[in-house]
Amino acid sequence: MTSTPLRSLDAAHVWHPFTPMREHAGEATPIIAAGEGFHLIDTDGRRYLDGSSSLWCNIHGHRVPAIDAAIRRQLDQVAHTTLLGLCNVPSIELAKALVERAPAGLTRVFYSDNGSTAVEAALKIAYQYHRQRADRPAKRDLFVCLDGAYHGDTIGSVSVGGIDLFHSVYGSLLFATIKVPAPAVYRRPAGMSAADWTAHALVELQRTIVEHRGRIAAFVIEPLVQCAAGILVHPPGYLRRVRELTAEHDIPLIVDEVATGFGRTGTLFACEQEQVAPDLLCLSKGITGGYLPLAATLVTDRIYEAFLGEPAEGNTFFHGHTYTGNPLACAAALASLELFETNRVLENAQAIANRLSERLAEIAAHRNIGEIRQKGTMVGIELVAERRSQAPFPAAERVGHRVALATRERGVIIRPVGDVIVLMPAPAMPVELVDELSSTVFAAIDDVLGG
Ligand SMILES: *Cc1c(COP(=O)(O)O)cnc(C)c1O
Repeated sequence: MTSTPLRSLDAAHVWHPFTPMREHAGEATPIIAAGEGFHLIDTDGRRYLDGSSSLWCNIHGHRVPAIDAAIRRQLDQVAHTTLLGLCNVPSIELAKALVERAPAGLTRVFYSDNGSTAVEAALKIAYQYHRQRADRPAKRDLFVCLDGAYHGDTIGSVSVGGIDLFHSVYGSLLFATIKVPAPAVYRRPAGMSAADWTAHALVELQRTIVEHRGRIAAFVIEPLVQCAAGILVHPPGYLRRVRELTAEHDIPLIVDEVATGFGRTGTLFACEQEQVAPDLLCLSKGITGGYLPLAATLVTDRIYEAFLGEPAEGNTFFHGHTYTGNPLACAAALASLELFETNRVLENAQAIANRLSERLAEIAAHRNIGEIRQKGTMVGIELVAERRSQAPFPAAERVGHRVALATRERGVIIRPVGDVIVLMPAPAMPVELVDELSSTVFAAIDDVLGG
């Protein structure tokens, strides 16, 4: 089928995620037919550089021979069997490989299929843990999370999120949480310096934890970078402080590395950079190299042990999905982890990070750029109507969306978050292509806003 009939069928039947559908139907969105290395190719034969890592999950590029071969090998064995009452080979091997690479103490791997379910499982595990732990503390049913947080779309993961739009639409379905201020400094109350705001965030963090400690089931955080909030980078030491306070007050720490994991911040996991070992760790997106849906929630022995006991005691974790531990996805994940070593992907991620910071300096003075934020290979360029007042563009102007369209016209795919232009090259992308990504995005910003 050619582009035209495919496009009308798409308009007739496919409901796209997070997409204003009426507008989508009027736009000639590319229909991707193939991938090749770090490029995507559409049904009209146009090639695009994949500047969003196919929404933050691709690591080594597309059609990577080693991952393709691993999936084919597994396909010759079996595509899917269940982990309910059975085991399968790749899920065992992958669990071992993840535990070896994860922060110390995370020894048990609970599989699911996407980032939201990785978080959902972590929330339920933390909640049930307190009910079953030996010392049976008083009711622990509150979760603490950050303003602006994004942990996924299932009801539990939206509950611990802090994006106002989603809370206004689904508010009455969500459970109550306690929010602490995000420590990112760009949008802060008038009259406060960046240092004041960081200090305020730390004081509020401590006050909240101390005040509610007996009721807190867990503290949930995206480590170092709040991604969907617009690549909000935390000041150094914040995550470390969260770990110290949660440990001191016996509060499990859930670290959501769904976006930051697998090299995006320059280390395999972001928590390594502040020597943090969480009690629960959520992984997805990059886990399979961006090939297949898979997620893992890793937990410590201490938490896991509260779920043991006689079957009749009912301490089981009553949770799990049909495709949990899918062998094809686990085989892809194992191949991806091997490639990190054979291709020295973390070294490349560092090289990309350095090149990006050099290139970003070129546009730092642009009158419509309020702030440029970067952690490793993750970049957010916040566009504003006026630099000094930080006044945003009217939402109806959809400036971020227009810059993304202009970027696409120039042959590069990106996906903004509101008016924050997000650059998310795959950690294995060659530095020359990262240069092309930067130049193209800068030119597209000029296309829309002038130089
Ligand atoms: C994307 C994301 C999720 C949700 O993952 P899905 O696979 O889209 O369900 C959760 N947490 C973070 C930090 C994310 O970036």
